[in-house]
Amino acid sequence: MTLANLNFLQADLDWGGEDPIRGARHVVDQEDIEAVITALRGDWLTTGPMVGEFEREFAQQVDAPFAVALSSGTAALHATMSALGVKAGDEVIVPTLTFVATANCVVYCGATPVFADVDPQTLLIDPFDVERKITDRTRVIVAMDYAGQPCDYDALRELSLRYGLHLVSDACHSLGGSYRQRKVGTLADISVFSLHPAKAMTTGEGGMVVTPHESIAMFVQRFRNHGIDRDARQREKANTWQYEMHEMGYNYRISDIQCALGRSQLKKLAKWIKQRQLIAERYDAAFSQSDSVSAPLVHDDRHHARHLYPLRLRQDRVVLTRDQIFRELRARGIGVNVHFVPVHLQPYYRNNYSTGPRLCPNAEQAYEELFSLPIYSTLTSQEVSRVISAVIEVTRKHER
Ligand SMILES: *Cc1c(COP(=O)(O)O)cnc(C)c1O
Repeated sequence: MTLANLNFLQADLDWGGEDPIRGARHVVDQEDIEAVITALRGDWLTTGPMVGEFEREFAQQVDAPFAVALSSGTAALHATMSALGVKAGDEVIVPTLTFVATANCVVYCGATPVFADVDPQTLLIDPFDVERKITDRTRVIVAMDYAGQPCDYDALRELSLRYGLHLVSDACHSLGGSYRQRKVGTLADISVFSLHPAKAMTTGEGGMVVTPHESIAMFVQRFRNHGIDRDARQREKANTWQYEMHEMGYNYRISDIQCALGRSQLKKLAKWIKQRQLIAERYDAAFSQSDSVSAPLVHDDRHHARHLYPLRLRQDRVVLTRDQIFRELRARGIGVNVHFVPVHLQPYYRNNYSTGPRLCPNAEQAYEELFSLPIYSTLTSQEVSRVISAVIEVTRKHER
């Protein structure tokens, strides 16, 4: 055990023995467990009736015509880029303040991710910087609804029409959100969701491609199954062994077991998001009083899905670095996190795409100040109070 670990333990012990509060947490109830047991007793385990049912119900939930489920949000992003024909020589504009998968899916297709900066107030992709980064090679704009707040889709749509580009929504944070009365899932040519346990609802691992275009949905169905035109169940139904492969694909299938869980979770999604929003309201009320921290601006025309609750440290008001506050809060048993290291600062992109500091100054500045508080539907009222008190105590100790 290193000295740093020991200090950590010591700090943990000092914190009056209360249980640590996790940063993110899924919910699985008895109904979910029974749904999975039923699938386990079924005939398919992998692609069976649960997959199509889950897709139909998910599409309905987000007001979209088509939904195709895959093994992860990352697989869904890869399928999205492939469906749009992204290939070597192409450029795809992605925000830099996101999870690496948003950019990696572009690289999977041999194309180049071009990093756009974020608006300093909302931390959402900045349409003005997107426009500056459009070239003859640009094919797609990817928006990512950071923390759960939908991006400015009208501005991005206007750019996509003016320059003849596809618009994709990485909606892994914003399931349940909306923009100008339109639900997330209807705001782009393709919207991508993750069903990882840290997200609003889960299938263990899983992802979803949502689109108004039937041809894209059909492509993604083939893409998740090696590029072949019929899955095993369709062949059985048609009494044939034959299938054809015209395009390259992968095994990105999701199982019936997972989709049984997804169907059961979907019923509770609206309630869970409401609970997240109530927690965010308490945090907002507490921190709007504080000079030491500030939450990103949320526009009135958006319904925020509250996947994350990020705060920024006001370094003009406190003599405290983000790393210090992170350590101090963790030492008090608060499961804080940081979202995200700007992707253009990741060694892979620096080494292979010559990115680096000063490419996206707003995101770089935000990263120095950002930390995310625990937020999930089962966080108790007392735990929310503990988080608030801990942030206030730590920042008060270090006021300028
Ligand atoms: C979670 C997440 C992903 C990846 O989803 P997985 O299901 O973990 O593959 C992609 N983009 C963003 C913004 C995410 O938060």
